[in-house]
Amino acid sequence: MRQPLDELIASLTVDVPDHPEPGVLFRDLTPVFADGPAFRRLVAGLAAPENGDPRAAALAGGDDAGADHAGPPFDVVVGVEARGFLLAAAVALSAGVGVVLVRKAGKLPRERIAADYVLEYGTATLELHSDSIRPGQRVLVVDDVLATGGTLAAAVALVEQLGGVVTAVSVVVELAALGGRQRVAPHTVHALWTT
Ligand code: AMP
Repeated sequence: MRQPLDELIASLTVDVPDHPEPGVLFRDLTPVFADGPAFRRLVAGLAAPENGDPRAAALAGGDDAGADHAGPPFDVVVGVEARGFLLAAAVALSAGVGVVLVRKAGKLPRERIAADYVLEYGTATLELHSDSIRPGQRVLVVDDVLATGGTLAAAVALVEQLGGVVTAVSVVVELAALGGRQRVAPHTVHALWTT
């Protein structure tokens, strides 16, 4: 029997203590991304939050879970800089939709909207091109890690400011002790691995 996806992700993730600053246990997912079969299952899981718990979809549906005959329940995938980009691009490709970038301040060249959010120390800003989401478009928001939730809450707020309808929020890892899920509410975060 195949290894459950959450166990597979946990087994490949490397924990790095005190990075990028003392007291933070950094979850390095790059070995998961570098493993072909694991990455494929990861992308299928992120793409299939409509099936309830994406763990179930990824386990049951195999490689193309989320790309059923009716099409995916989202029109575009939004990825958050930087690791969210590679996940969102892969999910969008698998689902046959486009990908939109939420970037850190100062990177996007055209008219844009911005959202400030609180980090552990200080604040940060995320931006989105004003014409990148059409009103009523159904949006799947993807990132690698849900920690305090500030990043994803800001990304969701940007999408909604443009009239996008966030139909799902998917992450690879949820760090449950940090309570990020509450910050993204009322949207439900679908996590492939909760630790
Ligand atoms: P937050 O806004 O606190 O939910 O932080 C989420 C963002 O910071 C994600 O885009 C992650 O890439 C990164 N991040 C925060 N904490 C960690 C961690 N412990 N390990 C890996 N990445 C993290």
